[in-house]
Amino acid sequence: MRVGLFGGTFDPPHLGHLVTAVNVRHVLKLDIVVLMVANDPWQKHGTREVASAVDRLAMVEAAIKGVDGLVAGDDEISRGGPSFTADTLIAMGNRYVDAELFTIVGDDAAATFGTWQRAREIAKLSTLVVVDRPGSPLVPPSEFKWNRVEAPRLEVSSTDLRQRFVDGRPLDYLVASEVLSVISERGLYGAEKYSVEKLGAKKS
Ligand code: ATP
Ligand code: MG
Repeated sequence: MRVGLFGGTFDPPHLGHLVTAVNVRHVLKLDIVVLMVANDPWQKHGTREVASAVDRLAMVEAAIKGVDGLVAGDDEISRGGPSFTADTLIAMGNRYVDAELFTIVGDDAAATFGTWQRAREIAKLSTLVVVDRPGSPLVPPSEFKWNRVEAPRLEVSSTDLRQRFVDGRPLDYLVASEVLSVISERGLYGAEKYSVEKLGAKKS
């Protein structure tokens, strides 16, 4: 089995995450790609409020529902505490015995190699997959076995999406309508201010 680990805060999950996951799965012929929801994104401490892990998991589950080969991962949430990729790879190795593991990161995450905790363990347990746009290759440090997947980068970020809730710009198509439903039901990002219709989500 070939298993991809695509970790993130997913606050909220968006089109860019999903397009990346399905394209990497296709190019590298992975059986599944696990969108692993960070329990406690320590790299974001002190910078902003993060939606609860349970709410972010519910959004990821809604986003991948019915999509072949995408799985919502809750190992980091079940483990609790700060999330470290090396621990998650160990957990995934236990869950998917004998699987070949791939750690998938977008270009912005790949640019922060220097700050990664336990990079050597990550390099030992998995093949790194850097997803970046055509023509701007990012080269990881030499200890990594790595692969590069070119994908068009859709200029969407969770940061911009959260701002859209504040200033009322449209979210349609950037966020799956199933995710918008979860946001609306749970009143995330101040969404209780908006009607379900205004968010573009279909009522379930
Ligand atoms: P934030 O703006 O809050 O940092 P984000 O949109 O960057 O959120 P994260 O949850 O931080 O999303 O990112 C998870 C993973 O998804 C990272 O590996 C990141 O590089 C990748 N990623 C984020 N946005 C995109 C995008 N538009 N296209 C491709 N990959 C992306
Ligand atoms: Mg980010």
